Order: sequence, then C-alpha cells, then structure tokens
Amino acid sequence: MLQVVKTTAELRELVRRVKKEGRTIGLVPTMGALHEGHASLIAAARAENDFVIVSDFVNPTQFGPTEDLDAYPRTFDADCRLAEAQGADVLFCPTPAEMYPSAEDTWVEVTGNITKVLCGRTRPIHFRGVATVVTKLFHLAQPDRAYFGQKDAQQVEVLRRMVKDLFFPLEIREMPIVREADGLAKSSRNVYLKPAERQAALVLSQSLFAAQRAFAAGERRTDVLVGQVRQQIEAEPMAEIDYVEAHALPELTAPHAVLDVPHLLAVAVRFGTTRLIDNVILDPRTR
Ligand code: AMP
Repeated sequence: MLQVVKTTAELRELVRRVKKEGRTIGLVPTMGALHEGHASLIAAARAENDFVIVSDFVNPTQFGPTEDLDAYPRTFDADCRLAEAQGADVLFCPTPAEMYPSAEDTWVEVTGNITKVLCGRTRPIHFRGVATVVTKLFHLAQPDRAYFGQKDAQQVEVLRRMVKDLFFPLEIREMPIVREADGLAKSSRNVYLKPAERQAALVLSQSLFAAQRAFAAGERRTDVLVGQVRQQIEAEPMAEIDYVEAHALPELTAPHAVLDVPHLLAVAVRFGTTRLIDNVILDPRTR
C-alpha cells in the first residue's frame, strides 16, 4: 500500500524505522505529473531496493522568474495511482514551506563549466535550485540509490559531481529516455503543446537519431554531427533553437574536434511557449 507523506518529520521517522531494519532505500525525485518516464525510474528503484520513496514536489527554486512554475501541471491523484502501480512505498509530497522552512535560504551550488553550459546558460539559477532540493531529499530519505533520467542528462552529471564532492553515501542510477511511439521524449511539459507544435516537435528525436545513425556508420567529426542536427531543426518553421551542442562527458567540457571520448549531444528548442529538451549520448566505446 502506498503511503502519502506530507511532512519532513513523518518521512524522517519512517526512514529511521526502515534503516533500523537494515533495509535498503531507493529514492526517485520528481516534480509530479508522472508519466511512463517516471514509471521506469520507480520500477528500477523497486527492482533494486527494499523500500521505495518517490518525491512529488514542484520545486520553486529551480524555476526562473519568467518560467512556468504556476502553470506546471499538477496531477496528484493520478500520481498516487501511478506510483502505487509501480510498487512505490511512499509518495512524499511536501509543501514549499515544509521544504524551505527558513525565511532566508541555504544553497548548494555546483560550480564550473558543468552548470554554465547548455541549460545553465539560459536558466542561470536552475541547477542551484536542483542541487539544493536534491540535497534536502538525500538528507531526508537517506537513499542507498537515487534514480534520475537521461532525459535531463546535464542534471545527472551535475548531481554526480555533487555526490562526489559532498561525499553523499549513495549511488546515482541513470535510466534511459522513455519516448512516445513516434519518438518524442515523454515530458510533463508535452501537455502544453498545441497539435501542430506536437507534430513539429518530432524533429528533435528525428534529428538526434539521424546523428546517432551517422555516428554508428563511422562519422566522428563533431561539427558535422552537430551541424546536421542544427540544420534539420532549423528546417522546421515552428522550432526556435535555444541550443544544439555537443559536450564531452562527464564534466561537459568543450567538445573534442573528433569524438574520441563519450559526448552528450543535446538540444533545447522552443515550440510556441513550450521549451523542450532531448539528447543522445555518442560513445565511441559502445557504438
Ligand atoms: P521531472 O518530474 O520532470 O523533474 O523528472 C523527474 C525525473 O524523471 C528526472 O530524473 C527526469 O530525468 C526523469 N524523466 C523525465 N522524463 C523522462 C523520460 N522521458 N524518460 C526517462 N526519465 C525521465
């Protein structure tokens, strides 16, 4: 049975009991509006841990002042059903006041290139908000493993750095991107898309898959692959590009001219007022 927990005190008490019994904990941080992408993370957590905590919290500090905090979809009842169906033990859904109890803030900030490029450039306070709320969740839930999606690949690298630098005793597990049948990456924000925008948005996965095929066929010039994706997206009239870039993994350093180490090839593109992200990893060791 899924237990809905709203306060940090209640969560800490539950976690204390689970730990005392020597059981392992898997944590899946989400902002709710759960879909099959989230479901895959919860299923992985269920398979690998004794106790599964899903957090459902639209974190205000990772939204910029002009972003979609108020409009962000909230589907609490459906979230409970999905989390329960995937075998979660706890759905933790605190209020903002519960998660940010002080009038002033304490921040966790991962510095360097890793938070300045890609989404960090257009969303300057985003990763500080993410690192801070995930730190709070790690302290509250004390997971052995925490589950994140490659959909937000930069976020995963930022959190890996944070876990390493702050000595969090846990493992970050990165799960593949779950897509619609036609290739569009599942996202809570897809509901914002008008039908014509939804159709136009297919250019993201199509252009990234084309680059992936070219890479598999032996193309190793980074500028050629990035240029190919950019050109294909620019040909779609409804698409307004934020970025189309490749960066070397894991620190998202400047791309190599030749793809001799794993790179993240990532895009962020607006369709109307909706900003979508997608990516593929180009790894010369496996592809
Ligand atoms: P969000 O609720 O959008 O903050 O996402 C919560 C977690 O689910 C993050 O780790 C995301 O990367 C992951 N996620 C979101 N969409 C997908 C997807 N389509 N496939 C896999 N994981 C996803």
